Amino acid sequence: MSDLIIRNVRTPETEGLVDLLIVGNRIEEIGAGLVAEATERDGNGALLVAGFVESHIHLDKACILDRCHNETGTLEGAIASVGSAKRNFTADDVYDRGKQVLDKAIVQGTNAMRTHVEIDPGIGLAGFHAVVALKRDYAWAVDLQICVFPQEGLTNYPGTQELLEDALGCGGDLLGGCPYTDSDPNAQISILFEMAARHDVDLDFHLDFDLDPSWRHLDEIARKTIAHGWQGRVAIGHVTKLSALPHAELMEVVSLLKDAGVALTVLPATDLFLMGRGEDHLVPRGVAPAQIFHEHGVCCTVATNNVLNPFTPYGDCSLPRIANLFANVQQLSTESELQACFDMVSDIPRRLINQSRRIAVGEAATFVALPALTGGQAVAEIARPLWGFKDGKMTFEQAPSKLFEPG
Ligand SMILES: [Zn+2]
Repeated sequence: MSDLIIRNVRTPETEGLVDLLIVGNRIEEIGAGLVAEATERDGNGALLVAGFVESHIHLDKACILDRCHNETGTLEGAIASVGSAKRNFTADDVYDRGKQVLDKAIVQGTNAMRTHVEIDPGIGLAGFHAVVALKRDYAWAVDLQICVFPQEGLTNYPGTQELLEDALGCGGDLLGGCPYTDSDPNAQISILFEMAARHDVDLDFHLDFDLDPSWRHLDEIARKTIAHGWQGRVAIGHVTKLSALPHAELMEVVSLLKDAGVALTVLPATDLFLMGRGEDHLVPRGVAPAQIFHEHGVCCTVATNNVLNPFTPYGDCSLPRIANLFANVQQLSTESELQACFDMVSDIPRRLINQSRRIAVGEAATFVALPALTGGQAVAEIARPLWGFKDGKMTFEQAPSKLFEPG
């Protein structure tokens, strides 16, 4: 592989336009007007970032609208219709659908992902094995982290725990939970913490996914996190109940999550689609205000969750679009607010999945070029990534748009 100079780009850590010299899979030099014998690429002023990170997605149940439909539009309707479609999932089928999502996500500038995978005696390890194969086959473009979890309950579905143990022993990276579908939610939480400690893995729960503020599971998660010394290793996703709390009560939860070192993941496309179905006017948004938690030092991420299925019948796998959707729902507008939205789909989820990347000398040549001056602008305009590299190799490029003016 010959050396490469990428000219005229901005990076988060440099002033003005710079060039990058790439040797092998590393960044050898960064500076203005670099001189070297190398192939050249003009960055035309693009912003280079380390890439988008999908902190919560379901590759195994994506792209199934041709075979199931959410009759009620509710969370229960989504779980029921996917549950029955899942009976016909095979490893090849999961692989093909996961591939469709990954192909789209790569072009959208995503180069790392945490995918949840459903495991229970019905599907067995078929979906899991397919995702393990995707992880291997897409390592050239995406670092895939596999979170195995019991979507249909743990204590109420005998055999599930044994399968989760098997998956953690052969490629599962961490353990997910879904207490709200369990007949004994607190027992599920206890078992998952005990398993996480035994396997030394992180935890990521689907949690408090409704708008009733009169009860919740997050206090138990915070308590268990501290009791197990698992601060910084636990995330909770959805937590739509938070959108139903008055400010003072919300701030108590901010302190609780901060003290427990529990991360919050918001999934606006799904939350907006499924919440508030009982209302016929002034429909609540049902999206947790992660920006307030972020402002007070809680690790917060925003993610896609589902693509073209009964939980979310939309999806282009664009994290700039999801960040923009979140900003729009939360009425965010200043550069620092929009930059925070950018950070919640890039550097912060990268920390959540225990990865670090910088565009700096000696680091891996992994980055994505955006047509923007800042991350905030990329969110405001839903910037369409131009091209990207992983470990010194180009992973995608999108042809620039052209206008054909008359004459
Ligand atoms: Zn999910």
